[in-house]
Amino acid sequence: MTFKVAIIGRPNVGKSTLFNRLVGRKLALVDDTPGVTRDRRVHAAKLYDLHFDVIDTAGFEDAAASTLPGRMRAQTEIAIREADLIFFTIDAKSGLMPDDKTFAEIVRKSGKPVVVVANKAEARGAQGGMLEAWELGLGEPIPVSAEHGQGLPDLRDAVISALGEARAFGEDEDADEEAAASEALIGEDITDPDAEPSYDDTKPMRIAVVGRPNAGKSTLINALIGEERLLTGPEAGITRDSISVDWDWHGRRLKLFDTAGMRRKARIHEKLEVMSVQDGLRAIRFAEIVIIVLDATIPFEKQDLQIADLIIREGRAPVIAFNKWDMIDHPQELLAELREKTERLLPQARGIQAVPVSAETGRGLDKLMDAVIRTHRVWNSRVSTGKLNRWLEGILAHHPPPAVAGRRLKIKYVTQAKTRPPGFVVSCSRPDAMPQSYVRYLSNSLREAFDMPGVPIRIALRTSE
Ligand code: GDP
Ligand code: GDP
Repeated sequence: MTFKVAIIGRPNVGKSTLFNRLVGRKLALVDDTPGVTRDRRVHAAKLYDLHFDVIDTAGFEDAAASTLPGRMRAQTEIAIREADLIFFTIDAKSGLMPDDKTFAEIVRKSGKPVVVVANKAEARGAQGGMLEAWELGLGEPIPVSAEHGQGLPDLRDAVISALGEARAFGEDEDADEEAAASEALIGEDITDPDAEPSYDDTKPMRIAVVGRPNAGKSTLINALIGEERLLTGPEAGITRDSISVDWDWHGRRLKLFDTAGMRRKARIHEKLEVMSVQDGLRAIRFAEIVIIVLDATIPFEKQDLQIADLIIREGRAPVIAFNKWDMIDHPQELLAELREKTERLLPQARGIQAVPVSAETGRGLDKLMDAVIRTHRVWNSRVSTGKLNRWLEGILAHHPPPAVAGRRLKIKYVTQAKTRPPGFVVSCSRPDAMPQSYVRYLSNSLREAFDMPGVPIRIALRTSE
């Protein structure tokens, strides 16, 4: 059973553009003039592995309607009633308008699961609008550019966390919808900014294994899962859908991104199959933690660094496996050297876990999976506002922001706006004037103070009046 999405928002925020993007065809009319007449219709849509229906609600801007506000409200309410999930769309470029709040109120009252889509996020100045979107109280805004097709992986993830995996993938036809909906709302990040919810290790952790051809990816996956089971497909303890294999590692549930290429290769033991760039990208977007397999005899080529950089930019956390360790003559020296290189070459996420393994003999696999689990915890970590601001006091006392054009920049407070990966909002006097070097300093200092090695850390600056 698929679910239905209603794209809700005031005129001109980009609902039709988003609709087209999801449906994959030029169906709805897109126009710069607010008030263009359109019909409301439902179409099959797709977001990576998610399949659903979208209700195009653009019709409620019907200019011919007698009382526009009343009509907008009525149409919106109908669409919301039909929907299982709402994409509450705002224009991050222009920021919040009074109408956004009116619509948000209707959406909130419905009690339906919501994803806040901060559209036009690619535009200059969209950061401000993104942050304003928090004020709607509907949860974490997901930055998206419907026009340029950006931010869609995060939108996919947001849908899954709003609906729960079972509903998102249409697996729970009997589930109590109301329970799922209210759980989705309670589960949102924004309920209590000061809470530090404990880490949930009962949900399957999504991982992917990437690396250059011949690094040993297939061998590693076979060693982790057990070759027999990988080859024989679904059975007790292992289930697979088109893109993932479920299994557990000493009781920890995992979902592994699976590529047809790997499977085929594992089956017929051919050597030439490579993981395509497309597969690599899909794998990274699928995963929470990405294991980068490096051949320790030829580590760190340009491509490896590009993959690592991509993982970090996508907000996922890398863990490095130095594979073929059985072939290394001076392991201690090499390990020290490789770890030093990791720190130097990947400063964007200092402290990346890097573990020597031999996929062939199975040595080091326990340590590797420990590192994966540890990194996943850090990626999920949340720091309370109280702790953050005690940390900030120390920073301001010992290393305050510089003066720019004779005026000292001021920081008022810091909060953690999101997890997975950790993202912080720094409220300061002149965000535009804040030097990048100081933002980097803040991020490094946060990483150290709150023990968040090896994961991307995001900082958004917000104006404090
Ligand atoms: P609707 O009234 O909410 O359905 O909005 P439309 O989809 O008709 O879009 C309104 C305007 O915003 C059009 O000019 C679009 O080209 C533009 N637009 C839509 N999405 C984006 C985006 O992601 N970035 C930018 N910069 N403009 C967008
Ligand atoms: P993939 O292309 O990344 O999937 O790499 P494969 O898993 O097919 O491995 C490439 C080659 O490296 C094969 O000949 C494997 O037997 C070999 N190999 C993989 N892991 C190890 C290891 O830990 N030690 C050694 N000595 N060889 C390995």
